[in-house]
Amino acid sequence: MNSEDISITNKLLSTVKKIVVVGHKNPDGDAVGSSLGLCNFLKQKGHHVQVVMPNDFPDFLKWIPEASSIINYEQNFEETKTAIQKAEIIFTLDFNALNRTGGLATELEQAAADFILIDHHQQPDDYALVTYSDVAMCSTSEMVFHFMEKLEGIKLLNKEIATQLYVGIMTDTGSFRFQTTTATTHRVIADLMEAGAENASIHENVYDTNSPDRLKLLGIALNNMVMFPEFRTAYITISQNELNDNNFKKGDTEGFVNYALSLSGVVFAIIFIENKKEDIVKISLRSKGDFSVNEFSRNHYNGGGHTNAAGGRSLKKLPETIEEFISILPYYKKELNES
Ligand code: 5GP
Ligand code: MN
Repeated sequence: MNSEDISITNKLLSTVKKIVVVGHKNPDGDAVGSSLGLCNFLKQKGHHVQVVMPNDFPDFLKWIPEASSIINYEQNFEETKTAIQKAEIIFTLDFNALNRTGGLATELEQAAADFILIDHHQQPDDYALVTYSDVAMCSTSEMVFHFMEKLEGIKLLNKEIATQLYVGIMTDTGSFRFQTTTATTHRVIADLMEAGAENASIHENVYDTNSPDRLKLLGIALNNMVMFPEFRTAYITISQNELNDNNFKKGDTEGFVNYALSLSGVVFAIIFIENKKEDIVKISLRSKGDFSVNEFSRNHYNGGGHTNAAGGRSLKKLPETIEEFISILPYYKKELNES
C-alpha cells in the first residue's frame, strides 16, 4: 500500500461509515480470520461493520471470536443484500476477482460503495479504489496486521483480533512451514501472542477436530491416490458416492491434498472432488518449488491462486477430468522435473 492509498483510506475512514467486509466463497481460515480481525479493528474506530460471506464456512472455524456475527448470502439472502446496498465502504478480503464470491458478485457489482481490496493472490482485478495487493505475503491476515500498522492502529490490537489473525496466518502457512512464511511473519505472530493469542489452544481448536467419518474419508482418499514418479506428480480422487457414504460435511476434505504432496519426490499434487449438486469437479492443486499451480489452474481449470497453492474446477465428469489430466501431464514433464 503506497502513501497515496494510505491517505485515501485514512480520509475515507475519518468519518463514521457503514462498512461491509467480504471474503471469498467456501471461506477458509484466512478469509474468516482476516475479515473478523479487520471488522474488530474498524468497529473500535467507531464504524458500523458487518462481515459477509458468500456461503457457510467449516465447523472448525466456528469457535473463532465473533464468528457467529458473520452472515452469509446463501442463508441470509435479504440481510446480506441490504448490507451491501447500504454500505459506504466495502472491503474485499483474500480474493482477487469478484467472481470468487459466486452469486454475491452480482450484488457487489451493483454496489455504490468504495471498494478496498486486501489480498495476496496473483493477478488481482482492477475494481477497487484502493488495491492493497502483495503476492509475497503468506496470508491476508498478515496483511490486515500491516494495514493496521500503516493506519497507526496497532494500539487497537486486542486478544480477539490477535486470535482471529493468528488463525488466518497459521492456516494459510500450513502452521508456518510454507515458503511464504518470513521472519516478519514470525515477528507478527510474536506480537499476536503478546496481545493474547494462545497458540496451543488455537492449533487444537482448528486441527484436532476430526470426526470418525472424516478420518474414514481420508482413508478412502489415500487409497485412491495415484503417483506418477516420472512426472513427480500424485493425484487423489473422491467421488460423490464416497462423500455421501461418509456423511461428508463442509471442510472434511481440507488438507487431504497435502498427503499427496508429502510423498517423497513429488512436487505436484492435485485432488479431484466430485460435486454432483453443482455438477462440477472441485480441484485443489499444490506444488513445491517453481512449478506454478496458479498457471496450471488458469490454463486448465478456470481457476488460480498462488504459485504453490491454487484451486479450480472442471465441468467434465470425474472420469473424463482424470483422463484429461493424465493426457496433459506429459506436456509438463520437463518443468516438473526441473522444479
Ligand atoms: P483450495 O485448494 O484450498 O481451495 O485453494 C487454494 C488457493 O487457491 C486459495 O488461496 C484459494 O483462495 C485459491 N483458489 C481456490 N479456488 C480458486 C478458484 O477457483 N479461482 C482462483 N482464482 N483461486 C482459487
Ligand atoms: Mn489467503
